[in-house]
Amino acid sequence: MSDNTIPLAGVIGDPIGHSLSPRLHGHWLRTNGIIGHYIPMQVTNENLEHVIRTLPMAGFVGVNVTIPHKETVLNLADTVTDRAALIGAANTLIFRPDGKIYADNTDGYGFIENLRQGASDWVPDAGPAAVFGAGGAARAVLASLIDVGVPEIRLANRTRARADALRAEFGNRIKVCDWLQAGNMLDEATTVVNTTSLGMVGKTEFRAPLDGFKPGAVVTDLVYTPLRTHFLEEAEKAGCVTVDGLGMLLHQAVPGFERWFGMRPVVDDALRSAVLGI
Ligand code: NAP
Repeated sequence: MSDNTIPLAGVIGDPIGHSLSPRLHGHWLRTNGIIGHYIPMQVTNENLEHVIRTLPMAGFVGVNVTIPHKETVLNLADTVTDRAALIGAANTLIFRPDGKIYADNTDGYGFIENLRQGASDWVPDAGPAAVFGAGGAARAVLASLIDVGVPEIRLANRTRARADALRAEFGNRIKVCDWLQAGNMLDEATTVVNTTSLGMVGKTEFRAPLDGFKPGAVVTDLVYTPLRTHFLEEAEKAGCVTVDGLGMLLHQAVPGFERWFGMRPVVDDALRSAVLGI
């Protein structure tokens, strides 16, 4: 690419209209005075490979990838980071000048940075973690909790077989609990995470008993619509430190932006307001 080429990036998904990433990256481009663009792109499964192979020729330096393409893109990449391979999905692609595609997963990074920013006294190895849910997002959460040294992770999922499969993959630090007894996981847990879609606008409310929260535990919900979920409200009532899920979305975007546009952006209140449109 010549020096005066305008760098382009974007997000590929299907559907894509709901994505907050264009607002997020648009804010960073604007406030940092970077001449570049970030574009939402609705791409079907059948067109995915063709689009991804064509974008670098049009000046794209990389893209974010969201549902339903996060797993498929691993097969299109020349290099897959260890964490993307472990999670089994990528959310960030870098198109290198040599034509190679590099795939990474920054969800776990975003998850941990959000906890570090929102709960500055969080000590990952202070006690066990309790994780609700064993879907795609849980994979990134488990990988990153193991990575930062959480000694034991209690995991419960409505469909127990999915939790058992994650234990088989991620190892003995994971202890699977029955969904019907999921509330018991909270006993002495110092980190608690909801990775299910329960409590999200338009979905069922979170109903597992939540009276066992340990005061002082750090509690986060990946759901960020609404920002204050029932799960977080119950944790707050019990004297826990709560961290909403929006920050994970904001932080996971940092590594991609830095690689594409050459500067490390900050996650601050101005970014949150821009993304929330307030
Ligand atoms: P997913 O792969 O579809 O997994 C959904 C999870 O929710 C599964 O564990 C599923 O259990 C559980 N679940 C759904 N309905 C349920 C119900 N009625 N009762 C009990 N459990 C139920 O979705 P995902 O990609 O992991 O995403 C999960 C949530 O995280 C979504 O709300 C998503 O928006 C959010 N998320 C947020 C961020 C962020 O940056 N903050 C990033 C990624 C995801 P079963 O296995 O039994 O179906």
